[in-house]
Amino acid sequence: MSTITHWMNNAPFTGTGTGTAPVTNPATGQVTGEVALAGVEDARAVIDAAAAAFPAWRDTSLAKRTAILFNFRELLNARKGELARIITAEHGKVVSDALGEVSRGQEVVEFACGIPHLLKGGFTENASTKVDVYSVRQPLGVVGVISPFNFPAMVPMWFFPIAIATGNTVVLKPSEKDPSAALWIAALWAEAGLPDGVFNVLQGDKTAVDELLTNPKVKSVSFVGSTPIAQYVYSTGTAAGKRVQALGGAKNHAVILPDADLDLAADAMVNAGFGSAGERCMAISACVAVGPIADDLVAKIAERTTPLKIGDGTGDSDMGPLVTKAHRDKVASYIDAGEADGAKIVVDGRSVEADGGEQGFWLGPTLIDHVTPEMSVYTDEIFGPVLSVVRVETYDEALDLINTNPYGNGTAIFTNDGGAARRFQNEVQVGMVGINVPIPVPMAYYSFGGWKASLFGDSHAHGMDGVQFFTRQKAITSRWLDPSHGGIELGFPQNQ
Ligand code: NAD
Repeated sequence: MSTITHWMNNAPFTGTGTGTAPVTNPATGQVTGEVALAGVEDARAVIDAAAAAFPAWRDTSLAKRTAILFNFRELLNARKGELARIITAEHGKVVSDALGEVSRGQEVVEFACGIPHLLKGGFTENASTKVDVYSVRQPLGVVGVISPFNFPAMVPMWFFPIAIATGNTVVLKPSEKDPSAALWIAALWAEAGLPDGVFNVLQGDKTAVDELLTNPKVKSVSFVGSTPIAQYVYSTGTAAGKRVQALGGAKNHAVILPDADLDLAADAMVNAGFGSAGERCMAISACVAVGPIADDLVAKIAERTTPLKIGDGTGDSDMGPLVTKAHRDKVASYIDAGEADGAKIVVDGRSVEADGGEQGFWLGPTLIDHVTPEMSVYTDEIFGPVLSVVRVETYDEALDLINTNPYGNGTAIFTNDGGAARRFQNEVQVGMVGINVPIPVPMAYYSFGGWKASLFGDSHAHGMDGVQFFTRQKAITSRWLDPSHGGIELGFPQNQ
């Protein structure tokens, strides 16, 4: 059984805290490791190490910083298979999907390699007579990143490449459910030549999070997780004077218009509903069938769902287990509730035959039809392989469902009508929209983030939002000595 420690100054750090949590392989149900849970002293030690590393890293040239980023990118690209297997062993998703998440994270590293260009400021010559004005962006200091279980590599990579590239030092607090990916990444940074203390990992739970939220040496917090914790992180962190971006939960709808290509839409519903066992913040969990197509669409989704192979993610399965037994049982209880509320279970994942351990946390893909908006299977974020079909008569009803939903992370529309698609992208109150694309996760040079209860704060992740979040702007007004501009003048500076 492995012991999963913190990481500080480019080396594992055991800390003095005595708390631990078990880490399981969801495909076998076996405990495979024990992760350290930081006490306050451990958290402070890691934050202090990051704070000590900041002055030198801030002053490291962009040329040197980017050289290290390029090294990291090359190492990651060459060895991402190792990371994917670590993710599968603790999260459960199939290896190909784990590789996909690493590749999407790698795109942010590649974006951050262009940081010299992204950090260029403005310069105005002769704003006033012989006075120049210019702006620079400077790093914040120690930045905290707190990540969820479902993307143990990609979500941290939404933030830390840009944070490091812009000259900050990082403390990453991964989920205690799958903490090993962060350590592997930390060791890769060391191999890439990142100086001691620039990238650190703090393992733990609420104690570690609370220290990151209140310690004055931490200047910003980037959080991704469920909405109640995102709200808590945002209010606590901002009350402590920090810059906070807190991405929360989701309930993503796909609207299928009557003119859509139903085969394309059905493929998309299966991929977006059941990929990664539905444990994606951009998973589609509500399929809104508009008009007379519902019976055909449900049949097409069902015929694609039934043959899916469920099993250990290291094999040739399409879908792995859920992350923990408790989560598996909770998701199954929503299927029970939907059935009790009168919805029709078209494909039932509760009794699945899985190619994996007997004690694995298995739940097959589940398709539920005739779901109505007051059922808990619709109202709650389930975060499992459960796709609900809601039948409506019109586009307006579909739009209204989405716009009155408290969440606003992702959505998609399936249609062959460009005008309808354009109207949808204009009217829908959601942060990320797909048109005949079911999981519209933006590229690294755009920014990722939802609206409403899916994001608290003003900044989305990566892209230019990321560069701005991890830097502060300074405007400088400069005049080099010129005798004609001397003398005393008590009035407010005016341009001449
Ligand atoms: P979670 O909220 O339980 O945990 C997220 C992080 O917060 C973890 O690091 C955890 O240790 C910490 N945490 C948990 N309870 C805490 C508490 N009481 N106080 C302080 N910190 C606490 O989320 P999860 O179950 O790990 O991840 C799934 C959730 O994340 C889903 O709701 C999903 O939609 C969301 N998510 C959102 C996005 C997005 O981009 N909006 C992306 C991925 C996941």
